Amino acid sequence: MPVIPSEIQTFILKVALTREVEASCDDCAKLSAHLVEVLLDGAAQEQPLLAILQHLQECMPCAEEFKVLQDCAQMDLENSWPTFEEMWQRLEELR
Ligand SMILES: [Zn+2]
Repeated sequence: MPVIPSEIQTFILKVALTREVEASCDDCAKLSAHLVEVLLDGAAQEQPLLAILQHLQECMPCAEEFKVLQDCAQMDLENSWPTFEEMWQRLEELR
């Protein structure tokens, strides 16, 4: 099927719109701490945060960093940080 110009225009527009809401790794780094707080309170509603969530689905390095941030926030919330000795012990176990 031949592609007619109006279809090309629609396609370009769609790509442009997708780009606009797509978050980069930089955006992710800037907003991830805020997103962690928002998620602790409930669900993310704002468009920039939804774009970050989308990015986390697709970007493994950011997803891993985000997981660490979330774990830290959770430990802050529960005040369940390991003691220095416990952390040392865990490091020893990992060796
Ligand atoms: Zn990323």
